[in-house]
Amino acid sequence: MKKLLALAIAAATAFGAQAADFPAKDRPITLIVPFAAGGPTDRVARDLAEALRKPLGGASVVIHNAAGAGSTIGIAKAARAQPDGYTLLLTHIGIATAPALYRKLPFNVEKDFEYLGIINDVPMTLIAKPSLPVNNYKELSAWIAQNKGKINLGNAGLGSASHLCGLLYQSALKQEFTTVPYKGTAPAITDLIGGQIDLLCDQTTNTSPQIEGKKVKAFAVTTRQRLATPLYKDLPTLDEAGLKGFEVTIWHGLYAPKGTPPAVLKTLNDALKVALKDPEFIKKEEGLGAVVAHDKRVEPAEHKKFVQSEIAKWGPIIKAAGVYAD
Ligand code: ASP
Repeated sequence: MKKLLALAIAAATAFGAQAADFPAKDRPITLIVPFAAGGPTDRVARDLAEALRKPLGGASVVIHNAAGAGSTIGIAKAARAQPDGYTLLLTHIGIATAPALYRKLPFNVEKDFEYLGIINDVPMTLIAKPSLPVNNYKELSAWIAQNKGKINLGNAGLGSASHLCGLLYQSALKQEFTTVPYKGTAPAITDLIGGQIDLLCDQTTNTSPQIEGKKVKAFAVTTRQRLATPLYKDLPTLDEAGLKGFEVTIWHGLYAPKGTPPAVLKTLNDALKVALKDPEFIKKEEGLGAVVAHDKRVEPAEHKKFVQSEIAKWGPIIKAAGVYAD
């Protein structure tokens, strides 16, 4: 009996100590981003890493870009990492569309992760290469109809946000484009600027500086309502441009590998809540058209419920589009 009690006390102490010691000052936390550096997911990850530093007691959060296969390589890497709080994953809606897109996935979305909270919501914009000889959505839509079979659309691979948006767009138009996959929309937008591809549907966190600098042409937004910011307020939604019901908004979330101790998860979730209220972080996100999550959405249980609802929402839409990867 005494032995049992001693064991219980030892276990409780070890458990408590883990929380108190986490994160160690000399040990950086690796944040896996499953897309290329310089793109929209990398952008939010870098800004969040900075905002997390203070609430994590000065610990540094370093970004590891594990890009490829529409984010599934990086997500799988995070699923297999040591569940000690020192490896986390930041990814987007793709974690909820992958189960419908991939016949075999190297991870289980619902079983392999601890959910730490939603980070933001990001609208998308339909953009084109600067040399495209059209200047508004009506002209773009005529150009698309006249160029059947000749149009290239970039994306960040099967399961990316740009892929999902492109899929919905082609299905709404009932027209197929040649899709060109990249490891992220950072390299895709570079090729769009260079004229190697014609169109791209990408998050405002990546497109804003390029639209502002007139390096690409913007034609529409993918949200149901127009965006209020000066850069976007004159752009129609795809719904009002004639594609009734078109709507896609990208959300990002933070995850830890399954089995991460509850006290460590609590420390991380508490830090996330503080980071998402950081005025500097909010300013950066809002400046790029994103909306920072708050309240219930930053609760782990709500995050998990939301991912489950997104899996249920997108599964049938993707299945109906008949797109799969092995
Ligand atoms: N999130 C991707 C990136 O950061 C882009 C995408 O999903 O379309 O590059």
